[in-house]
Amino acid sequence: MKYTLALFLLCSPLLKAQNIYPQDYFQSPLDITLVMAGTFAELRSNHFHSGIDIKTQQVEGLKIYAAADGYISRIKIAHFGYGKAIYITHPNGYTTVYAHLQRLSPTLEAYIKKLQYEQESYEVEVFPNPDELIVSKGEVVAYSGNTGSSGGPHLHFEIRDNAERPINPMLFGLDIKDTTPPFIKNVYAYPIGPDSHINKSNEKQKLRLIRQPNNDYVVENVEAYGKIGFAIEANDRQDLAYNNNGLYNIQTFLNGNQKIEIDFHKFSFDESSHINRFIDYEQYINEKHRLQKLYRDTNNPLSIYKNLDDEGYLQIQDSTSSIYKVKVSDYKNNNTWLTINIKGKKYDTIKKEEPFKSNYFIYANKTNELVHDKVAVEFPSNTFYEDFYMDFAQTNDTIKLHDESIAAQKYFTITYDLSHYKPEDLGQLYIGRLVGYYKRPYYSSTKKEGHILSTRTKTLGIYALAKDTVDPTIKPINFSDGKWVSNFRYLKLKIEDKESGISKYRATVNGKFILMEYEYKDDMLTFDFNDNVITETENNLKVIVTDNVGNSSTFEATFYRK
Ligand SMILES: [Zn+2]
Repeated sequence: MKYTLALFLLCSPLLKAQNIYPQDYFQSPLDITLVMAGTFAELRSNHFHSGIDIKTQQVEGLKIYAAADGYISRIKIAHFGYGKAIYITHPNGYTTVYAHLQRLSPTLEAYIKKLQYEQESYEVEVFPNPDELIVSKGEVVAYSGNTGSSGGPHLHFEIRDNAERPINPMLFGLDIKDTTPPFIKNVYAYPIGPDSHINKSNEKQKLRLIRQPNNDYVVENVEAYGKIGFAIEANDRQDLAYNNNGLYNIQTFLNGNQKIEIDFHKFSFDESSHINRFIDYEQYINEKHRLQKLYRDTNNPLSIYKNLDDEGYLQIQDSTSSIYKVKVSDYKNNNTWLTINIKGKKYDTIKKEEPFKSNYFIYANKTNELVHDKVAVEFPSNTFYEDFYMDFAQTNDTIKLHDESIAAQKYFTITYDLSHYKPEDLGQLYIGRLVGYYKRPYYSSTKKEGHILSTRTKTLGIYALAKDTVDPTIKPINFSDGKWVSNFRYLKLKIEDKESGISKYRATVNGKFILMEYEYKDDMLTFDFNDNVITETENNLKVIVTDNVGNSSTFEATFYRK
């Protein structure tokens, strides 16, 4: 009897759900009802989301509170990514991260401005000592904003463990309103083995979803044979917002036996880019939606898998009938089920389409080099997840490297030898990836060494040499030359570059550096007179903006202030 009870407990889902994280340690970083614009580990471009995005009522400037006692262990100010971000390390070993901030608290703002003026740069990063900037739980440390790569006002909040692994912050007792179960938008079946087929085809098959009155799903019966797998497009929605969020857990069962569990409660930054192995990447590139594979294919290093049976694949025999079930759950354990009846039936007559072949076979686990005339492309070993025939071609300066639909997990290098060019003609050249219908060159970060141009990229596609002959533009927005600006808080200028993009900018007044914040989303440079670095009446402003190939423009104006 005792033995049976112990066994029952071991298998109980209750035990699995046991939470090992402190529950009352962290307070919410905001004092408003929490509504999520994004959930932990939701699927983003080339990464899993490492925190939660909390909506800030469409405004900036809400108070951000330290989630617990600790010290500011890092401040990073950047044009892209997290924008203005602070990191607080707590005595229990966890670190909380607050990103896309509008500004920091007055103490932190003074600390970082001092550094920005010393380094003469808006972008700075600093790791203060534990005794330098101590904060207490509930202290206002910053104000919410929209800086960096943020598509609207919100707070990006993270909790990381002492190995810098982000953990779902909801596991620490934050609360949200969510009684809405996840929903499934698409389901696909994949023949995996050489003689596998689904619905008389050896191509992947979109299955027709039928929603049941209780919000669960079924699909029309599937006829299949051999090794197969499935993938779903699924999202969650919470009660107080309409936006799509990510799932918390996915489990599949074949005839009652678990095949796979995918658990999104924690990951490490090293593995995040392997999201491209988790989703059907080709489908994502071509159709812009993310199918999550319910099997783990080769060379997939993600740690999100548990309880794997045959890597989540199904082996369907002839003349059988099976029931495959998929359970998708959100953080609040609202569940949605998908049921697929599979009839095993073998056909010998299904003809195979010949796969694409070329003279350029890429071995995933070897270094591969493609050299043609003046262009060389080097793929380090394990750049790709699988072997494949690359569609490679070159015409003059244009090279075709297959297409975007194959994911690379490492950077590869494209090198042009331009020794046949005159040195004076090299200046404005860059390597661009040709994108869109009009095949316009998109600047790919280009390094120049003598007559050698090179770029490192993770994106296949068409590359070519391009020339940027256009200088950046600089336009004053709220002032003009020779004007009094005594009552102004800010000076604003719009800076733009049409082709290769802005690489750097520098502003001085009477020859001395002034700090200008660059917001790439509205092309704006802003100087704040509260920095108190303008002391003269007559001031000569000079702004120099340089693009990625080195074209530069200078703007000069005189303003007066008393
Ligand atoms: Zn975020």
